[in-house]
Amino acid sequence: MTMLIISLLLTTNYADSREAVLRQIAPIVELSSEEMLVDSIFEELKADAVGQQEPWNPWVSQFFPLVREDYMGTDLYEFLLAIPKGAVLHVHPSAMGDYFALFDSVSSRNDCYFNPASKSFRLFLDSIPGDEWLSVPQLLATAPDQAAMRDSLIDYIVIDESDEHLEDIWAEFERIFGRVHGLLADPDAGTHYIYQAFYNYAVNENVQHIELRSHTPSAGGVEFYQGIVDSLAGQGIDITLRIVYCDSRYIYPGETIDDFRNRITGSMKSAADLMAQYPDIVVGADVYSEEDKGATAFYMAPMMEEAREYSMTEYGFELPLYLHDGESSFPTGVPDSPVSLTGPYPGTVNNNMIDAYLLGAERVGHGIELQKLPELASMYASDGIPLEICPISNQVLGYVPDLRNHPAVPLMRSGIRISINPDDPAIFGSNGVTCDFVVAVLAWDLSLADVKCLIMNSIEDAAMTEEEKTELMDSWELRWDEFIDSRLEDI
Ligand SMILES: [Zn+2]
Repeated sequence: MTMLIISLLLTTNYADSREAVLRQIAPIVELSSEEMLVDSIFEELKADAVGQQEPWNPWVSQFFPLVREDYMGTDLYEFLLAIPKGAVLHVHPSAMGDYFALFDSVSSRNDCYFNPASKSFRLFLDSIPGDEWLSVPQLLATAPDQAAMRDSLIDYIVIDESDEHLEDIWAEFERIFGRVHGLLADPDAGTHYIYQAFYNYAVNENVQHIELRSHTPSAGGVEFYQGIVDSLAGQGIDITLRIVYCDSRYIYPGETIDDFRNRITGSMKSAADLMAQYPDIVVGADVYSEEDKGATAFYMAPMMEEAREYSMTEYGFELPLYLHDGESSFPTGVPDSPVSLTGPYPGTVNNNMIDAYLLGAERVGHGIELQKLPELASMYASDGIPLEICPISNQVLGYVPDLRNHPAVPLMRSGIRISINPDDPAIFGSNGVTCDFVVAVLAWDLSLADVKCLIMNSIEDAAMTEEEKTELMDSWELRWDEFIDSRLEDI
């Protein structure tokens, strides 16, 4: 009997110690008793989704377009669609919405054409298309199977199953931006698309705040996006907006090295000018595009520093940087190849996470290379530099084929702040941020407390003043409590 009691005591102490270790390595927010009841529903929905899959071949290990509709057909998707999600901190405006809906909104227009050679679409308004362009309404009307023709045309602008084994999926991904440009450049179609996207985030996806990575926006571009937000506000639909000014890290065809350096420096200075002009909307600068084919952060650091000197001299602030970095499979934490030090191309090493840290980035987009640099990761953690994690993007573009192995979890458990973001959901066919939450929950077995923590991170890491963040957090908490109450009614 005495032995049994000691054994039980030891077991209890052991369990307590184990619980303490778990809490230390996986800090999460505390749930109220009501939230814990909803968490039990959440766990049932997860189990139901897992039960629909083969354990040896789960959806999260498959190319997203193959299982996109499976994810969207789950009750877990509906639950996460309704959850108030705080802020989306990383999305590119031309690919922020729904290309299925974009196609359907223009395909009956008489000026909508398709070019089979370039796979491009275009609205011609008053201009006359050449013979290389085919009328989309006619293609649909004369097709034996109209639905199949629609699907085959949309396949050119949304990554689909057939793209799984492409040699260079980044090239296909970037070609899509060119193929839809002729639709989005049309004033009516482009405005309708962006309006619908914001409406979808605000109303259907329950997102309260969006930060766009916009390609070299003009003052008119900034006012266009703010105008969309204002028009939604006029209908009682609240969503707030910030814009990060972006340029490409590629050298464009025909561009010399000097041209490139001047363009990057000029863009960074333009970002500062727009920040001064729209201090409540434009929040900083970034460079993007495929890192392993573009200029390194190290190479561009002097251009960023020159722009920061300019912003300090002209406006009295240091240009904030929200950098796309660490989106690579190259080795890191080893000496750079000479070419990456003297030229714009990275060669075979990617040390961009080191430079993003030294440049004092406010946040880093992706940052998946940080998993290979534990010492640097601890510096990111202690300095509170957040990562904008984009799970579906990372999988479709080949960095993390099996999302169970995504570094977000070890990075999060190491104390690094992360948020969940959609990057380019129109091209992936995910059409919002909910699917990214679903894949994250299933791949990483996240609890409701984890999800709440990720959402609160997105608000705390937004490019806002402390007062603005408090206001956003307060309004999110009201929505969160309403969501919890509505789910309790289902019990
Ligand atoms: Zn991005």
